[in-house]
Amino acid sequence: MTTRIAVLALQGAFAEHVATLRAIGAEPVEVRLPRDLDGVEGLIIPGGESTTMRRLITRWDLAQPILELASSGAPIYGTCAGMIVLSREIVGGEVPVLPLLDVAVERNAFGRQLDSFETELDVPVLGDTPVHAVFIRAPVISGVGPGVDVMATLPDGRIVAVRQRNIIATSFHPELAGETRFHRLLATMAAEHADPGEGVGRRQYPTRRSQHGR
Ligand code: GLN
Repeated sequence: MTTRIAVLALQGAFAEHVATLRAIGAEPVEVRLPRDLDGVEGLIIPGGESTTMRRLITRWDLAQPILELASSGAPIYGTCAGMIVLSREIVGGEVPVLPLLDVAVERNAFGRQLDSFETELDVPVLGDTPVHAVFIRAPVISGVGPGVDVMATLPDGRIVAVRQRNIIATSFHPELAGETRFHRLLATMAAEHADPGEGVGRRQYPTRRSQHGR
C-alpha cells in the first residue's frame, strides 16, 4: 500500500514536494481545506512566505487539524518557511500558529549579501553522502529545547536541520536539488505511524526462519 502524504498547498514551493513524493513512490495529497487531511499519514509544509502561510493556515481553519495530526504521531516535515511555521518562537515576536517544535527561529538569517546560496551539508543520520542544500532567504534555528535533536549545522555552528520526535524541519530546500532522503525518512516514519504492528511482525520473522535452519 502506498503511503499518503499531504503537502500544504496554500502558497509557496509545494509542487516540488509533490513531485519528490511521487518520485519515491509515495502518494502526495495537496491540502487546501481541513477535509483534505482526512486519511493522510504525514504532512509537508513547504517553503514560501511564512507570514502569508501563517495567515492562510488560520483563515482556512487548518491549525487545529494539523495539530491533531501531529499529536496522533504522524510525521510532519517543514522546509524553510515551513520550519518557521512549525517553530514555537519566531524571533521578533510574530505569533506562532503551529508551535510543534521547541525551537526559536530567526527569519532571513543570512542577510542580503548571502540571500541565497547552495552548499554541501553533512547530515549524519542520512548517511555519508552530503546533502546538496539550497538556501533561499532562509531561517536558522537560534535556540533548541531539550527534546530537540540537531540533524545538521553549517560549518560556523548555526543549526539548519532539527528533529523532535515526529517533527522534522530544515532551513534549506532538498526538493529543489533532487535530494530525496528527507522525503524517504518522512515516508518511512509515516508508514510506521500508519501500521505500528508491522515492526512486531518483522521481529518474529527471523525466529521462524531460524527454525528452518537458515
Ligand atoms: N524568507 C521566507 C520567510 O521568512 C522563507 C523563505 C523560503 O521559504 N524559501 O518566510
